[in-house]
This record gives sequence, C-alpha cells and structure tokens, in this order.
Amino acid sequence: MSTAPNTAIPAANTTVIPSHPKIEEKFASTQGTAESSNGDATPVNWDSEIQLVSSLAKLQELESKIHELRQFIPAGVLEPLVPISSSNGVSSSTPVAETPPILRNELDHAVRDRLARIEQFQSMWRGPELKPVWAHATARMKEANGQLIQPTGIWERDYDVLLAELTSAEKAKEDERLREEEDAERTKVLSSEGGWAAVTERFTQRGIPGVRLIKGSNDTSMGIALARAGMIFIVEGVKDSGSADVSGWNVSSKVPPGRAPGKLEEAILDCLNSRPRKWDLSFLLDMIASYANIKQTPCAKCNRLANNAAQLPSIRRAQSTQPTKPEESKDRVFTFDAFHTACA
Ligand SMILES: [Zn+2]
Repeated sequence: MSTAPNTAIPAANTTVIPSHPKIEEKFASTQGTAESSNGDATPVNWDSEIQLVSSLAKLQELESKIHELRQFIPAGVLEPLVPISSSNGVSSSTPVAETPPILRNELDHAVRDRLARIEQFQSMWRGPELKPVWAHATARMKEANGQLIQPTGIWERDYDVLLAELTSAEKAKEDERLREEEDAERTKVLSSEGGWAAVTERFTQRGIPGVRLIKGSNDTSMGIALARAGMIFIVEGVKDSGSADVSGWNVSSKVPPGRAPGKLEEAILDCLNSRPRKWDLSFLLDMIASYANIKQTPCAKCNRLANNAAQLPSIRRAQSTQPTKPEESKDRVFTFDAFHTACA
C-alpha cells in the first residue's frame, strides 16, 4: 500500500474542543460498508473519506473519554462525600446521606459505576472497530519515520460533526440515485409494449393461488380478490392534472354493503398506502398478493402468527426495493416479509 495523501488532517480554521456524543452507531454503519461479512479480517478501505473521518471521530471520542476518566479518582469515587464536606453553607443538589450504611452504599455505587465505565472504555479501545484504526495509525507512523502525523497535537475539527455531514450528504446522493433509477424504470414500463395492461396480464398469468385479478373499466383500474383472506382491494391509477401518464396507484378496500372494514383490513390498507414505489403497479400487486395467506403467514421477527394482542402480522416489507438491471425488470417479482405492527 502506498501513501494516501488524503489521510492528512485538514487544515484548521476553527479549534473546537471535542464534544463526546454517542457516535458508535454512525461509526458502526460506516464500518459495516468498509468491512465484509467475514469480520475484522478484511482490510478497511483507507481511501474512503468517510472511513477516515469516522475513524478520527472514534479516536476523538476516546480522547475525550480519557479526560472524563481522569476525573474519576479521587473526585468521582468520592462524590457521595461532597454534600457532607460542603454542608457548611455551600449548596449541593444532593442531600447528605441519612445513615452511614446509606453513605457506604452510595460510595459502593460510585466506585462500581466508575469501574464499569473504565471497562467500557477499555473494550472500546481494544474492540474490533478500532483494531484496524490502530493498525493503520501505526503503519502511517512507520511510514513517516516516527514523525507525528498530527502536527499541532490538538483536534482541529469536530470529526463527529464532519461525519454526520458526510453521512447525510452520502445518503442524499444515494436517495437521488435511487430516485433517478426508479424514474428510468417507470419510463421503461410506460414505453414498453402494453404498458400497465401488460403488467396486469403478467401478474394474472402467474396464477398465484388464492389471488384473483378482476379487470376494471380500463387498463388502470382493477380489483384484486384474496379468497382465503376474504378481502377485495380496488386499485386505481392516479394521473397528475394535465398528464396522460399514471403517476401513482390508489388502493381502497371493497366491503360488502352494510359491513364496515375490519381492523385487520384497515391495518393492511394503511400499510399498502404507505408503501414505497407508489408508481409501480407490479410492486403493488405483489404486495397485495403477499396478504393472500395472511392467516397462515407468521411474523418474520417473532415467528408467531397471532401476537399477545391477537393481531396477525399486517405489515409487509419488501425484501429489496433496489432497482434491478433493465433486462431483469420485466419479470421482476417482489417478495415481502410479514411483521406484527409492534415487531416492524
Ligand atoms: Zn411479531
């Protein structure tokens, strides 16, 4: 591995004393993309800026924790004595311990608490997340012939802030990319032969047991009957004003006259109407079909059919909504996991 010039600490324009919010989560998520599933054996991509920033943020957090640890002895462990020593006039928010056993308990607790936090610090320091960071830092020191990489010896940036900015910028970019790919997919369906009618036709041809598609008055309206679940859903294309193209699909449930939709039906409808890919008819049809065996489909999280509140898993989550390659998109079938509302 040759030297990576972008590992240099960015020049300072502000000197901020590092705060120490919980950044483990953010770190874990970026670490996850850098490492493969076989754990810490795989090399980390040190050319990735977000990897560098998240590592620096982790080191910064460790450093600020060291300052915290310095306060533990004697001040931290003797905290319960403060109300006693300061009772002559100096106000204290905590009351003086009422009896010696109570005071002893408090002292015990203070020590145990500090010890636990020291242990937590140690496991963070030696943990798998920091292992590659230490290895990289050591290698860079060697490369620099013992010269310090950090020239000023102070943190010149708040790396957790920088990490949050980078992460959200990355997410915005990813969202934008997915949106563009979905737009392209939608255009492709519309321009392909048969348009939405072909989507309906392909769905019918699959002959999913317990699912019957009833064509409506035009290509963009239909009913889907789920015989085993005893439900009928009405799907209708929605057009933006001034546009001939369907921009989304509305779902409602068809209830026989004189009957109100049941709780389960309403829960299903809520989930259907909060789905992603609102433009995508085949996604919606697959999603509705995933309810065909609702009375036999256990929750993917708790593995139970009815939960303690006697509710069936009414939530459906697509296993992947990532756009596929154009040549695969035509016969694409979405699969869904079932969840109880509380398990989702
Ligand atoms: Zn569940």
